[in-house]
Order: sequence, then C-alpha cells, then structure tokens
Amino acid sequence: MADLSPAPLAASSASSAIADRIATAQRRILRACRAAGRPEGTVTLVAVTKTQPPRAVAAARAAGLTVFGENRVQEAQGRWSEGRWGPDAAAGTAPELRLIGPLQTNKAADAIALFDVIETLDREKLARALADAGMKLGRRPRVLVQVNTGAEPQKAGVLPGEVPTLIAAARSLDLAVEGLMCIPPVDEAAGPHFALLAKLAAREGLPVLSMGMSDDYEIAIRFGATHVRLGSALFGPRG
Ligand SMILES: *Cc1c(COP(=O)(O)O)cnc(C)c1O
Repeated sequence: MADLSPAPLAASSASSAIADRIATAQRRILRACRAAGRPEGTVTLVAVTKTQPPRAVAAARAAGLTVFGENRVQEAQGRWSEGRWGPDAAAGTAPELRLIGPLQTNKAADAIALFDVIETLDREKLARALADAGMKLGRRPRVLVQVNTGAEPQKAGVLPGEVPTLIAAARSLDLAVEGLMCIPPVDEAAGPHFALLAKLAAREGLPVLSMGMSDDYEIAIRFGATHVRLGSALFGPRG
C-alpha cells in the first residue's frame, strides 16, 4: 500500500468542502427569504462554474444543484457538452444553463444552442441576432436584460433610462423577456442598485430579478432577487 496516492483523498475533501459551502449558502438563502417575509423556494441558487475544474462541477451536481451560470460561450461549450454530461440528462436532471457574461452577436447562435437563458441582453443588435438564431433553431430565446445600474462607462448593460425601449424591441422580435439582471459597482453599497433594478422590473411587469453574488446575495434577496449567482461562496476563491 506504499504507493497509495494522496490525490483521491485531496479530491474528495475538496468536494466535501464544496458540499459544505453549498449547504451553508442554501441555509443563508432560506434565512434571508424568511427575514424578508418571502416564501421558501422563491430564490434560485445559480452556481457560477466559470473557471472551475470538472470535479468541482461534479461536486455541485452531486450536492443537488441544477442551475448553472457561465460567462463565456466557448468555455461553457467545453464544460457542458452533452458527451460529458449526457447520462444525467437521460435521468431527468439535465442542468439549466444561464449565460451571465457579455455576448457577441457572432456567438448568438452558439449561445442559443447551449444556454437555456441569456441574462446579458444589452442592445438591440444582439436582440436581433438572438431572434434570428432562435428562428433557425426553432426555439424562442429566453432572455434577461442586463442593466448598468451604476452607469459605469466600462460596464456592460443598458442604462436604466433605456430599459423600456430595449424591452419593447426585444418583445417585438418575439424574445421571451423574463426579467432583469445587474452587477452593481464594486465600490458602492449594493442595496440601492438592487432596489433600482426591482423598480424597473416592476414597471415592466417582469418577474425575474437576477441580482446578488457571493458578497451581497442576502441583501439582494431582501430587495426581491429571484436568482442569486454564486461562485466563490460555493467553490472558494477563483485561481
Ligand atoms: C463571476 C460572476 C459571478 C459570481 O461571482 P462570485 O463573487 O464569485 O460569487 C456572478 N455574476 C457574474 C455576472 C459573474 O461574472
């Protein structure tokens, strides 16, 4: 037994650490729901698997998570290709994949083919590309509009004042607009940004609010988040 490698042990303790972090996040989500007077199960935990190795993703799936966020189309294609994950799909636990990173129009068809929901619609040209891709694939694209709530020059997302126009355009192209998404400025309190996103969504009659990350998801839940996107809280710091 002298050649027994430590690698499997290290791997299994890494996945139990992930299982522990997932359980903790789920408890905190539940507690935040209760504190906000919201029914259980009104917040979906989106596990952000970008940059994670296959065994981290496998640990999250083994812990029962079914909804995943990725920020790059090509990277996600590698991680979520059917050959690697097919057996689970047959068992009825096919993951729901959500694109949470910026999308180029020339990747629209690939994105529609892989992702269930595109959370980062931020311009009319992209809406048209998604509509075209959806038509070809015989699928009605489901989208969220990303809002640049802090009006940061370098950040993706439509400005708050332009939300109604983009939503009208997307709806006229027959995209299924389900809600809004935001990433608040890193150096500001997140609460007011979440409140703004909730107000914009309510005005448009949109039910889905994708807001809140590892550092602020409980605040987001207080302001009505339906989807919180957690990476490092589940998987540890990204390398
Ligand atoms: C990476 C990423 C997350 C997860 O960030 P953490 O702080 O690790 O939870 C959430 N949303 C978007 C859009 C991201 O790119």
